[in-house]
Amino acid sequence: MSSEKQPSFPRPVAAIRLDGGRLCLNFVNTIHDRYAAPVEDYVGELERFMEWCLRAGALGPGEDIAAPEAAGQRAALMRKLRSLREDLHALLAARIDGIAPPEEAVQNLDQWLHRAWANQSLGSDGRMHWRTDAYDVLLPLQRIALDALDLISGPAAAQLRRCDNTSTCGWLFFDTSKNQRRRWCAMETCGTEFKMGRYRRS
Ligand SMILES: [Zn+2]
Repeated sequence: MSSEKQPSFPRPVAAIRLDGGRLCLNFVNTIHDRYAAPVEDYVGELERFMEWCLRAGALGPGEDIAAPEAAGQRAALMRKLRSLREDLHALLAARIDGIAPPEEAVQNLDQWLHRAWANQSLGSDGRMHWRTDAYDVLLPLQRIALDALDLISGPAAAQLRRCDNTSTCGWLFFDTSKNQRRRWCAMETCGTEFKMGRYRRS
């Protein structure tokens, strides 16, 4: 617990928690915390996002994709990242709450999915493969979009949860516990804080 108190800022990407259990959930959880003020954005810079992608599995070990250098391109990419993250959160949260998702969020995910599908081709092995020219900085966001679709469109959606620490945390996670009653993004953070009677995360 003491190691949780005062994180160095910005915290190293290697120290970012991946408690979501799914790529798309870990991406949505790059806001620490959802309801905190101010929030810490784990991937507030492009280089950090690229590093996070390698760590979280949005990029494979051999997929070293260079970030663009032009300021305009970089800013545009960050805007895309943030809007996908917010829209995915809205979609997933709506699913948890059993309400209709915002139309704008549906349209945004739809566009990412179509981009992802257009960037893949069926191989002779019967599987879809990314085209060679798809290997750019948008590739991780397309993978995240595909993972989100896989999650919300199938039976796995029933395992989608929001951390019970809704005063600050609000992280989403995939419940793989046997009794399907996991309450916290992680027992050692929010669960411990609940037991100690305080809701405060570092
Ligand atoms: Zn939590």
